Amino acid sequence: MPISHSFYNRLSRSLPRIVEHYGTPFHIYDEVGIRETGQLLIKQFSAIPGFQEYFAVKALPNPEILRIMKSMGFGFDCSSIAELILSRNTGAIGEELMFTSNNTCREEFLFACKDGGSILNLDDITLISKLTEIPEQISFRYNPGSRRTGNSIIGNPEEAKYGVHHDQIVEAYQTMINLGSKRFGLHTMLASNERNYVYMVETAIMLLELAESISRELSIQFEFINIGGGFGIPYKPEDAPLDMIRMASEITQAFIRFKEKNGYMPKLYIESGRYMTGPHGALVVTAINEKSTYRKYIGVDACMSALMRPALYGAYHEITVFGKETSKKSMIADVVGSLCENNDKFAIQRPLPEIHTGDLLIIHDTGAHGHAMGFNYNGKLRPKELLLRQDGDVELIRREETIADHFATLEFKKDILTL
Ligand SMILES: *Cc1c(COP(=O)(O)O)cnc(C)c1O
Repeated sequence: MPISHSFYNRLSRSLPRIVEHYGTPFHIYDEVGIRETGQLLIKQFSAIPGFQEYFAVKALPNPEILRIMKSMGFGFDCSSIAELILSRNTGAIGEELMFTSNNTCREEFLFACKDGGSILNLDDITLISKLTEIPEQISFRYNPGSRRTGNSIIGNPEEAKYGVHHDQIVEAYQTMINLGSKRFGLHTMLASNERNYVYMVETAIMLLELAESISRELSIQFEFINIGGGFGIPYKPEDAPLDMIRMASEITQAFIRFKEKNGYMPKLYIESGRYMTGPHGALVVTAINEKSTYRKYIGVDACMSALMRPALYGAYHEITVFGKETSKKSMIADVVGSLCENNDKFAIQRPLPEIHTGDLLIIHDTGAHGHAMGFNYNGKLRPKELLLRQDGDVELIRREETIADHFATLEFKKDILTL
């Protein structure tokens, strides 16, 4: 089962009471699972001094979740002013923040540099001229161009909008040296939801080799390399998980070899979002309609405003029916929301147990890029978020959107330009 048995069991035990108290739909996140995954990362990379996870805020931008990350010693990867604000509100400051934006404007740089600043991770050489001050420490996001093709979400690096071209990377650091920067990092992010650990090891080796050659050319040392996020999780029951233990061990070996050759070891940074929280969240909905036309449809009380991934990427999310986990999958149905958009389906032609109005459906693995990606097309509102806390209690950590929230931007001062 994609979400862990432990989370499923703890959730199931209390689900009727949670639903009675809060109503559906809601996303619910598992503090125990998030902490276990965090501890696993810390343990596996402990042989690389200064290893640091910068949680990718966009995956689950909720203050309570960020507070959990902070308490584990993690920093935050931000790419907007709102994400910087959320992260700073946890008390994170300076080098605990990585600002990895692209197509950045001056206002964002100004914000990233104020209140103790952040590590600036520049997406392009032309952005140097947009800097509002010259930071002591600078990092660039590297795009290696054609190498083994990535998967469908980010695609071939040559077609990706991100990163500095191979032929400009030395010039990028040279320019920053000339301007006065003294501390350097190197970043890339090439994968998305990649479960083949070898790909991540290759990425780390690629960055270490690049760091070595830039160091030689410019006589600088790299304080860190940042291999980005993109660590995959198994969404389908038959998917093999990412082999974190072998990945960490082989990356550590590469760092040790680097040290033997170069006399120092840079720190390893990662910016995992999905791996940290994806499997530790579920969207709980109620079946409200059954329809049999050319296909069978189960209508539920949430729609793609709560979870865009199936509609946007054709992503698979496991669905179980509360109380019918072991029942025979005797029907095939599309599980749909109420948006006037035919893509608004959580599952297409999915074998499921017999579902009746009032049944609770648990849509798995919504802990990353779930609620956060939701939108308000068609006037559909986003659901609440709950936290299944370590102490066993459940806490509301974001209320549902209201019609008043939705109409808030219609309250403004009359402004007519007479031409
Ligand atoms: C989205 C993003 C991440 C996190 O990606 P995951 O697939 O959730 O691990 C990390 N870094 C950057 C720059 C991103 O844009």
